[in-house]
Amino acid sequence: MWIWTAFLAVFDDFTGVVYGEFSGMSDKTAFISTAIPYVNARPHIGFAMECVQTDCYARYLRLIGHDTFSLTGSDENSLKNVRAAEEEGITTRELCDRNTQMFYDLMDSLNMDMTDFIRTSSDRHIQGAQKLWSMCREEDIYKKHYSGWYCVGCEDFYTEKDCPDKKCPDHQTDLELVEEDNYFFKLSNYQDKILALIESEELRIVPNTKRNEILAFIKQEGGLTDFSISRSRKRAGDWGIPVPGDEDQVMYVWYDALANYITALDLENNGENFQKYWTNCDRRIHMIGKGINRFHSIYWPAMLMSAGIELPHEIFVHGYLTINGQKISKSLGNVIDPVIQVEKYGTDPIRYYLLRAVSPFEDGDYSEERFAEVYNADLANNLGNLARRVETMGSKAGHVPKNLPVGDAPEGYHEAMNDYRFHDALATLWRVASDLNTRIEEVKPWVLAKEDRHDEVAAFLDEMIAGLRLIGHYLVPFLPQTAENLANIFVADKPMEKGEALFMRLP
Ligand SMILES: [Zn+2]
Repeated sequence: MWIWTAFLAVFDDFTGVVYGEFSGMSDKTAFISTAIPYVNARPHIGFAMECVQTDCYARYLRLIGHDTFSLTGSDENSLKNVRAAEEEGITTRELCDRNTQMFYDLMDSLNMDMTDFIRTSSDRHIQGAQKLWSMCREEDIYKKHYSGWYCVGCEDFYTEKDCPDKKCPDHQTDLELVEEDNYFFKLSNYQDKILALIESEELRIVPNTKRNEILAFIKQEGGLTDFSISRSRKRAGDWGIPVPGDEDQVMYVWYDALANYITALDLENNGENFQKYWTNCDRRIHMIGKGINRFHSIYWPAMLMSAGIELPHEIFVHGYLTINGQKISKSLGNVIDPVIQVEKYGTDPIRYYLLRAVSPFEDGDYSEERFAEVYNADLANNLGNLARRVETMGSKAGHVPKNLPVGDAPEGYHEAMNDYRFHDALATLWRVASDLNTRIEEVKPWVLAKEDRHDEVAAFLDEMIAGLRLIGHYLVPFLPQTAENLANIFVADKPMEKGEALFMRLP
């Protein structure tokens, strides 16, 4: 278990509400990343969920005192980008520059507190990826003539056994027969080591269902097969990262994309960030979607082992989002733009829905109808109404909040976060809010006020404010703006005034 008690003891020394980072309070370090998306299309709500989960966890790590490096970026060396640019009649570079901006905008719109954003077309990434290639043991990389069925959508090969009709099972598009000399990575060299790592939980895959899928894949008959890590420069449309020492080949997009996690930390120069937030880091965490688990739980650790670099400690795998119960797809025309949803409803309500109303582990659904239900019930009626009632009473009574420390997190909060159960952690805070609402009904402070029992009213308000501050403090990772707004209502030693409501009910 964690050393919560030590941190909580430190929290108790604080007076008043202290929001923000506790950097320097702990000698623990953490690294956390989103996967990097292809930039050939606009960001969709499923990626927004991954962003919010990652930002929430990064903010949580900071809240408990970890010096945390949080990373996101863009995957630009894909054949998809080359094809998309060709269709538009622009260069791949132009397409990437333009589309990457949409992912920067998404970060702003979701209020993500990221330390860095890495583009895989940047010099630091190109040089870092080439260094990683060169660091891999010579006996793990070999060249061979290869033919296979390729899906550009997946950027992956299929065997004839997998797809007898030569169509991608995911995209339903025709597979392309590819025949050329490629470099291969000798994955079979690492089969036993990876199995042991995952079974011992030295590499922890959350949730268990996703861990079991990986274990079954490793143990399948025939074991792990070597995978291609390059393609011809010609087939790549002259786009991608050249293989060191072989001008005719560029790296396979997955090999270079995975490297982003450490090229961003200055692997190239074995820089300070690389040493601090990777080599000597206490928690190295990747947040990914279920479709790319194999790349992260098998290929990536093997590449790192080959290069003699430390491995991630934890891989959190989320499910997919459907829209109104349907798979997100351009052809169905149901792609929901998260930036537009945020413009319509606000950042924190969207963050709340993605963290609370969707299971972190299973597939979930987004619909505006369900969003409105959750918003009204939890945000407007429960927390929002509670804060409003206390604010109204406090401003009428001319109450001055005291400078009191924030208490321990509600029972189950840290345990839920340790298991990436965002929804359960939020539920512990909402139980506190419900209890406070119940207390108001029981105590009936308006009766106390009518009878001029001012001391009792003040004591009751202190109790309410302490509860709301506790909620606000532990809400920071989830709804940072709401946490700040709450803090501004109950500023110590300042007479309370009535301001704007936290959440207006939706019609
Ligand atoms: Zn495909």
